[in-house]
Amino acid sequence: TAAPWTPSWQSGFAQLGPAFGREILPTPLPDPYWVGTSEEVADSLGLPQGWQRSSELLAAFTGNALLPGSRPLASVYSGHQFGVWAGQLGDGRALLLGQTHGLEVQLKGSGRTPYSRMGDGRAVLRSSIREFLCSEALHALGVPTTRALCVTGSPAPVAREEMETAAVVTRVAPSFIRFGHFEHFASRRQYGELRRLADFVIEGWYPECQDTADASGRAGYAAFLRAVSERTARLIAHWQAVGFCHGVMNTDNMSILGLTLDYGPFQFLDGFDPGHICNHSDTQGRYAFDRQPAVAWWNLHCLAQALMPLIDDAHAAEEALSSYEAVFTDAYLSLMRAKLGLLEAREGDAALVQGALALLAAEQVDWTIFWRRLSHAQVAQDFAPVRELFLQPAGFDAWLLQYQELTTHMDRRLMADLMLKSNPKYVLRNYLAEQAIAQAKLGRFEELQTLQTLLARPFDEHPGFEAYAGFPPDWASHISISCSS
Ligand code: AMP
Ligand code: MG
Ligand code: MG
Repeated sequence: TAAPWTPSWQSGFAQLGPAFGREILPTPLPDPYWVGTSEEVADSLGLPQGWQRSSELLAAFTGNALLPGSRPLASVYSGHQFGVWAGQLGDGRALLLGQTHGLEVQLKGSGRTPYSRMGDGRAVLRSSIREFLCSEALHALGVPTTRALCVTGSPAPVAREEMETAAVVTRVAPSFIRFGHFEHFASRRQYGELRRLADFVIEGWYPECQDTADASGRAGYAAFLRAVSERTARLIAHWQAVGFCHGVMNTDNMSILGLTLDYGPFQFLDGFDPGHICNHSDTQGRYAFDRQPAVAWWNLHCLAQALMPLIDDAHAAEEALSSYEAVFTDAYLSLMRAKLGLLEAREGDAALVQGALALLAAEQVDWTIFWRRLSHAQVAQDFAPVRELFLQPAGFDAWLLQYQELTTHMDRRLMADLMLKSNPKYVLRNYLAEQAIAQAKLGRFEELQTLQTLLARPFDEHPGFEAYAGFPPDWASHISISCSS
């Protein structure tokens, strides 16, 4: 039968050449079935109507058949894991199928590659559902991220802490290039490849940096480092504002485009605990929530080190990196201002934000619920529901006075509008994902679809779904998510 989708592949990562990866076929999985699909992502790829009913596409997105013209490729990268140089890593279970509509299409969990090392090349249903739901949820929250087109499952057993079953995520992004790709070629002194990689990324996504290049190209690479630092700063500001903990910020999980990449033991905060560690395997707390801005900064230094052969000027590199802190602080403050409904920057707004964070941290008040209640309080001009979140409300009362003083002259209605668009009602709490996963393991996907619908429009009220916006149940705090996925 004719393939229902014949992508017109454009040149993408694969054009870089053989030093950048290896062509390898996916390993088929038995009896594939659909788990979840995203219409929005399908549209951006130009998939035809009814694609999710096509058995050919089910096979293709499970790695059991090739899309016409596709030459799957595993890319090679290296990286620092938990602060330590790990040497060569690479796509151990991911395959790039090709680039179309400006997006690389990648299978994750499609079998072993030359970079699998000790791994089995597989992904389990549990972590695949988490990645699918969360990447779409972050996108809807306005956070830069890779996207997910679909998840397919198979009854094939996969051994993790316990026996699970296999799944494949089809994910898309303009590029999946990581800091670790640059570290790889720098560590091997393959400076020709390093330059080719940098030029490829600059031409595609940082064209403004080309203009700053002198005859030797030097300033262009420093400008590139600066631009990546700034995008990364804005990404982390978004994470901190929405209460997202990534969990494994190794340099090989850092996107050169400033996208959220590689969903593992991530978590949206429930109660606000700044030092929260979501990764069960992170015993030192290296990737704790409040360390994320500093870790990204550390990772950018690894990138800078890798780019040194191109920049060739330590002072210029330092200078490029130095924009990170100011951009982060600015981006974070402006996101927090929106959460507070502050229509303009004011003297004292940073202190107001700090005050709120201290109050929330002192009692580990629920992050999402606090901000959403505060938004509704602004609508109703009744702050009692927010006050009730505190066992000792004296601190809140004092803070509220400060808040009202700072905003006396502001239009309440406009403030409330901004807050309701900035403070989501629905986020992918761990326990919600767990419920959808438990059902999916039984072959039912209603819960997953419900979450997908709510999270696609997280700022809308969705009457009747209040249970999904409430406090997490007690068992939620006992969920432990490790690196294994
Ligand atoms: P991560 O911690 O998920 O970022 O993965 C780090 C490295 O391990 C990457 O090179 C992955 O491709 C590889 N990896 C993770 N899980 C597997 C697996 N099940 N099979 C093969 N490689 C894997
Ligand atoms: Mg990774
Ligand atoms: Mg991973």
